[in-house]
Order: sequence, then structure tokens, then C-alpha cells
Amino acid sequence: MNILDIIFPHPCIYCGKFKDTDEFGFCAECMESLPMKLNKRGNTFYLFEYDKRISTLLKISKYAGRPYYVRMLASLMGKLMAENKTSYDLTAFVPMHKRSFSIRGYNQSQIAAEAIARKLRIPVCSKCLKKVKKNKKQAGLGKAERRYNVKDVYKSSASYVKGKRILLVDDIMTTGSTLNECEKELRYAGAANVERAVVAYTPVGRNR
Ligand SMILES: [Zn+2]
Repeated sequence: MNILDIIFPHPCIYCGKFKDTDEFGFCAECMESLPMKLNKRGNTFYLFEYDKRISTLLKISKYAGRPYYVRMLASLMGKLMAENKTSYDLTAFVPMHKRSFSIRGYNQSQIAAEAIARKLRIPVCSKCLKKVKKNKKQAGLGKAERRYNVKDVYKSSASYVKGKRILLVDDIMTTGSTLNECEKELRYAGAANVERAVVAYTPVGRNR
């Protein structure tokens, strides 16, 4: 434990109580009571299906300058994936437009991909996908609009992805439009296989 953690202990990221927390930020009771298992739907792995607290943590990570939460959650996800004996050559992530990146200062998808990659002991490819067009935020758009909004926004390159088994990472999946588009690009550029990993899957219509 770091000396600063003793002076300024972190509360449990889930219940907010000041208790001993593990390397993922959870206290023993939350670890025990939450369904900490890897789920898979199609080719997408996810840890939490709609969970209000997790959604809030991911929102704070994205919009409030606190990527700490997404790093902890993705790291936990990476640990479970490593136990699952998955095998990939690299992780890729949903890129941000250059301008948006310079405003936020970090990309939460990249942070999630790095945390998972560390546990899987594979590299993160920051050049596998590029955002070539600036679009509207997906949040607040309907399903059809979301699909249209991400069309031709991402580009991949054969020199980085050809023949690779890729784990494509994002923090959250709602309709899957963004991940579908990124996956399509990776496959088009010659990826041997693409699977996806998100911390939270929030089915449409259940957003609160
Ligand atoms: Zn707790």
C-alpha cells in the first residue's frame, strides 16, 4: 500500500464507504455481493449489465476528468479475462477526434484498453483505429441516428491490423453502433479476428 493511501484512504468506488479496498477499488463486501463475473453476448465481453452506480462512475470518468474509475473497472475486467484464457495479439480502442482529445486530455476507451492489456500482457495499438471525422455525441441520439452518426467516422490501416487477433475495447456499450463501425473497419483492414470488451453493457431502453 502506498503511504498516501494510508494518509488519504480511497473510499470503496462502489458503496463510497471508507473501508479497506482491493487493487480494483472495491471493499470486500461489495466484491462479495456484486456479480463479479465475465459475461459474453455475441463477440462482446462485459462485466456489468445495466448498473446505475457503474454507469455513474463511467460518466465521471468520461466527463468529469476522473479516469481513475474506468482504469480500476477495466483492470478488474482484464483480470477476469486473463483467467478466462483468451488470446489476442493486441487491444485496440475507440479513438477520439484530435480536437476532442486535446480538450479532454485523455481518452477513456484508451485507458480501459491499457488497463485490460496490462492484465492480458499484450500491447495496446493506438494506431489501429483513427477518428477521421468529428461527429455528434452518441448520447442522446436514437438507435438509427447513432448508426448514421458513426458511419465513415473511423478508419483502420492494414499495416497495423492485418492478420491480428484484436480485442476492441470501449468503456460502455449501448446500441453497439460505435463498436460495430470500429469492428467493421478493423475487419476490412484485414484483422484475423475481432472480439470486443466493455466494462458495462447498458441495453437500450433501460437507460435511466
Ligand atoms: Zn463497497
